Amino acid sequence: VRRMASEVDAAQKATRGGDDTIFDKIIRKEIPAKIIYEDEEVLAFHDVAPQAPIHFLVIPKRRIVALDETKPEDSALLGKLMYTASKVAKDLDAKEGYRVVINNGKHGCQSVYHLHLHVIISFHDINPQT
Ligand code: IMP
Repeated sequence: VRRMASEVDAAQKATRGGDDTIFDKIIRKEIPAKIIYEDEEVLAFHDVAPQAPIHFLVIPKRRIVALDETKPEDSALLGKLMYTASKVAKDLDAKEGYRVVINNGKHGCQSVYHLHLHVIISFHDINPQT
């Protein structure tokens, strides 16, 4: 993913500390989001600052801070996140493909310390961002 300078700045300032991120507020419906898919374990919603015509995020409802903090017992949930990325992309009719990206840690330009998969469709004929 090509990162804009402001995102790199944001990532360098972000820290792992704290109990809550903006994604917890989205999970609790305290702030609005364009939710595409939700079940008891995961949530998918459109990125507020899309880097492509379609750009959505898939997150676990249980907070995992970052990929490098995952434990063996997180394996099933990690698999569920990947599967959800695929399912939602299919629901959005992304027949011609997409990218799945995880930014991890400071040097990976992670800015929100709640694990998330970016799903990015660089070209899209229709506009289902509703
Ligand atoms: P990171 O740089 O991999 O940590 O990605 C964080 C992503 O979260 C960025 O692409 C942001 O645009 C996105 N983001 C931050 N706040 C919100 C929000 O409130 N709603 C939806 N996406 C958000």
